[in-house]
Amino acid sequence: MDTEICIVGAGPAGATLSHFLTKEKINHIVLDKGSFPRDKICGDGITVDVLNVLKRISPELQERFTQESEMLASWGFCFHASNGKELRYDFRDNGFPMAPFYTSRRLDLDDFLVRNLTDEYGKLLNESEVIGIIRHDAGVDVTYVNGGVEHVIKAKMIIGAEGEKPIVTRHLGLEHFREKEHLIGALRVYYKNVKGFHDGNHLEFFFDKELLPGYFWAFPLSNNEANVGLGMVSTAISDKKVNLKKMLDHVIENNMKVARMFAEAEPLEKTRGWGLPIITPKRQIAGERFALIGDAAGMIEPFTGKGIGPGMMSARICSEHIVQALKDKDYNMTHYQEHMYRYYKSEIKTGYTLQKTLKYPIALNSVLGLSNLSAIKKWSHNKMVTEWNRWI
Ligand SMILES: Cc1cc2nc3c(=O)[nH]c(=O)nc-3n(C[C@H](O)[C@H](O)[C@H](O)COP(=O)(O)OP(=O)(O)OC[C@H]3O[C@@H](n4cnc5c(N)ncnc54)[C@H](O)[C@@H]3O)c2cc1C
Repeated sequence: MDTEICIVGAGPAGATLSHFLTKEKINHIVLDKGSFPRDKICGDGITVDVLNVLKRISPELQERFTQESEMLASWGFCFHASNGKELRYDFRDNGFPMAPFYTSRRLDLDDFLVRNLTDEYGKLLNESEVIGIIRHDAGVDVTYVNGGVEHVIKAKMIIGAEGEKPIVTRHLGLEHFREKEHLIGALRVYYKNVKGFHDGNHLEFFFDKELLPGYFWAFPLSNNEANVGLGMVSTAISDKKVNLKKMLDHVIENNMKVARMFAEAEPLEKTRGWGLPIITPKRQIAGERFALIGDAAGMIEPFTGKGIGPGMMSARICSEHIVQALKDKDYNMTHYQEHMYRYYKSEIKTGYTLQKTLKYPIALNSVLGLSNLSAIKKWSHNKMVTEWNRWI
């Protein structure tokens, strides 16, 4: 046996798993077809669960992350409803110990995660694309290509962390679960000179009437740049025959609040698209000698599209089950699957409920508008602050 665990993909999910396996002194190999630093189409919004996982890896790692010059602390967010109302939270008002959000280009975040790996128990092989997987009674044989040459790794288990294009799923002969109703199509474009961000670097979400059930975002980054994009569930894109690129330009030109922010803005790249597989119960994400984490397991929250935190959290939870599996010499990872869906049960429910309101502007406006009633606003605010404080 070459190694205990073979991880396919060194994005946030795969790199996080490598950190946890190293902590547990478990030998493993991580294969990634790219080499770091590398870009990934994303909104670059780092949520509180990411900070939580970093701290669980080690408080020093969390500290190091917040000190990096590319990471921009963000103290809140704002939902802009189509009727002009807005729901804004600034966590500085609540004596929060640290910013609950950050923004970081994925070029920097993913590089940070792999740069801080040690090679004592794990080895990251860049430019190594997995092209074949054979599962048998004694383990898993993983074939990858590096520099045009094929190699085989023999491992006890394989963990799929290869992102949205489900290569491990396909090679293991599992159901390919990229159903349109559980996939969001989204675009990203970096801009400079977007004006009017809140002084707490808030994440701005716009629920423009013409874009619903999708939304537009503008997140401030370091160096006067911004991550700008929009996303919509794939069924709505095809039903409404929406051209996302045209829609993005339309919002920038015609939504009054957005247009004001973009008056002097300049795009820094061509608009680029990618899929977001959202968390859906009852998928097979684990079994005999395998588990899927991150986007490979479809771990994206349905309303906001956040997937970095759930991807890293799935890696943390998966690591616990790997430790147990190696100890028991029982390589069936079904317990991980049950654990994950139990862990995210309420988030799945809330996410889908909120996602459904996107289809109905009046319902959405009332959700956002209601929160302006002081009693409800106070209640939801306190609840959020208490819950999020727990994460940090
Ligand atoms: C437009 C857009 C905006 C988003 N905005 C946000 C946001 O603001 N906040 C947030 O939390 N989430 C956001 N997400 C979701 C987030 O980007 C993903 O959930 C996150 O990247 C998942 O991480 P991962 O490690 O599972 O996969 P990835 O980051 O996709 O990493 C997978 C890795 O696997 C490697 N790989 C793939 N195939 C192979 C192979 N055959 N062999 C070897 N290696 C392979 C790839 O090179 C890659 O490095 C957004 C997504 C999109 C598309």
